[in-house]
Amino acid sequence: METISRTKIADLFKNKPFGTQVNVKGWVRTRRGNKQVGFIALNDGSTIKNMQIVIDLQKFDEELLKPITTGACINVNGLLVESQGKGQDAEIQAEEIEIYGTADPLTYPLQKKGHSMEFLREIAHLRPRTNTFGAVFRMRHHMAMAIHTFFHERGFYYFHTPIITASDCEGAGQMFQVTTMNLYDLKKDENGSIIYDNDFFGKQASLTVSGQLEAELAAMAMGAVYTFGPTFRAENSNTPRHLAEFWMIEPEVAFIEIAENMQLAEDFIKYCVRWALDNCKDDLQFLNDMFDKGLIERLQSVLKDEFVRLSYTEGVKILEDAVAKGHKFEFPIYWGADLASEHERYLVEEYFKRPVILTDYPKEIKSFYMKQNDDGKTVRAMDVLFPKIGEIIGGSQREENYDKLYTRAKEMGVPEKDIWWYLDTRRFGTAPHSGFGLGFERLLLFVTGMTNIRDVIPFPRTPKNAEF
Ligand code: ATP
Ligand code: MN
Repeated sequence: METISRTKIADLFKNKPFGTQVNVKGWVRTRRGNKQVGFIALNDGSTIKNMQIVIDLQKFDEELLKPITTGACINVNGLLVESQGKGQDAEIQAEEIEIYGTADPLTYPLQKKGHSMEFLREIAHLRPRTNTFGAVFRMRHHMAMAIHTFFHERGFYYFHTPIITASDCEGAGQMFQVTTMNLYDLKKDENGSIIYDNDFFGKQASLTVSGQLEAELAAMAMGAVYTFGPTFRAENSNTPRHLAEFWMIEPEVAFIEIAENMQLAEDFIKYCVRWALDNCKDDLQFLNDMFDKGLIERLQSVLKDEFVRLSYTEGVKILEDAVAKGHKFEFPIYWGADLASEHERYLVEEYFKRPVILTDYPKEIKSFYMKQNDDGKTVRAMDVLFPKIGEIIGGSQREENYDKLYTRAKEMGVPEKDIWWYLDTRRFGTAPHSGFGLGFERLLLFVTGMTNIRDVIPFPRTPKNAEF
């Protein structure tokens, strides 16, 4: 074949250099045609749009064309022309075709017909080749760019917190243990407790559930930082909103209190949503048309409205009123209860019809590090609740007072030996500060309109599932 440098299909649609010889490489989505002319819909991942390859069958050997079936990978030289057909504005008249790899129609699982999301999860190694997952994973990339850009523009530093940790003080959930010990021959002391002295770290270690505590150390030196990395929770929750391995974004900021923290969270989510609307038009349109007719409208409406700010106490009142008027919830609601997703969604979807930031939760249901209010009962926590998702962000103003933090940690059974370094920030140059955690996949659920969190991460880890 003549050597022509490759152009991505997205660029050909954008720049439309009609009348020039171009080279494209990609995977065949469909092939159809008649005796005179063949049509191949070719996709190279750069855009959801396929490039139509038009083949004049008089110019090509039939034997060469036969193996070009759905899923095959080909290399094409040809002339880019304006398309006569409807549905696309450019096509390539093929002059040379090379087959990189065939895909046997009898065994290639992604034939034309629509597959269920459940089936596609079983072939997660191939599902990026579908329109849906191409769109979702391109959007995943764009959202990561949005996040870094948002914080970078505001002078936040991207700070890397460890993935392996030796303290379970976040209390955010069950942890996965990390060990090099021989599990068939564990050494135990006279009480039956495992002796970790000879383990790799010389003590019990786990995968992190959050980078927050370390991010706080950084905020107390660099002013404003954020983390963006994988976190792990061994909670056995088989829901459409929980993963055992997920990515979290955790900004942590010195000198801001809860009100500014809420504003930061609102600005941040809106920035990401606007970024999706501006940068992912084709993919969004596809997801809107195929899965969720209200998607684009919902994204626009979130930008328009100010998020509601509401205390937990007021929220519980609204929910109790709803119950009194006959609304049925699966889980009981009373002051002191942790809100279930159905409660959160009632407030957002039925009562206010826009996102809600719920604040000042009972201290019993929140972590030891949250700043205590003067009422002695509540802490300056803030959860951002979203339509279709429920909790998308959890955050708080942090307790900066050494004595209060120390006492609360004791009360909640957090061992001092695990957090002596964290307590030190309150001993040396403490300051008011706040932060929050956004679950990256929950944001992706919202912006893509997907309904199961397993479908917005390439290789989901959930109970009993770690294939690929
Ligand atoms: P939930 O109540 O929904 O289980 P949480 O209160 O345990 O969440 P936090 O510890 O506050 O969650 O974590 C901060 C954010 O991380 C949450 O607001 C959510 O967006 C996300 N998140 C938490 N757990 C998971 C999970 N298992 N899978 C995916 N995202 C999660
Ligand atoms: Mn939370």
